[in-house]
Amino acid sequence: MLTAESLSGDPIQARYSVGSLLQQPVGTQVTHDIADILTREQSSLVSGHITFTHTNRGIALSGEGEADVRMMCMRCLDEFAAQVAFTIEEQVHPDPRYAHRRGAEGFEEDDEPGIREDNTLDLGEIIRQHIVLHLPIKPLCRRDCPGIKELNPDG
Ligand SMILES: [Zn+2]
Repeated sequence: MLTAESLSGDPIQARYSVGSLLQQPVGTQVTHDIADILTREQSSLVSGHITFTHTNRGIALSGEGEADVRMMCMRCLDEFAAQVAFTIEEQVHPDPRYAHRRGAEGFEEDDEPGIREDNTLDLGEIIRQHIVLHLPIKPLCRRDCPGIKELNPDG
């Protein structure tokens, strides 16, 4: 299972080759189950699907999925697992000049996953970033969690 801690590292290994899609006409779409793109050991970590569309600027990714993530309750500090639903809307470009232009608009160039020279995408990193975006800001093990007993004698 993914953890809030592991998600600050590099927990998902998934490379996806867009070489053949880039040779298809603009507008061509392919959809994959995320589990099919992950390694066999990691295929149960994330579920969902991603559609890849060849656009005139690169590849557009659109998808949605779910992942179980172990995190800490902000009230009682117990660990619990929650299902985190996420969506992916991302554009990736083969031309580094695009990354440059986006950088000028305030994006961190180095963190932008793009299409590498060998026409592969670091899909694991893209999925990781989108799960992180959808993590609860105030994780609670349950909605009426009373918090730590010792600090809450009246409760
Ligand atoms: Zn709690």
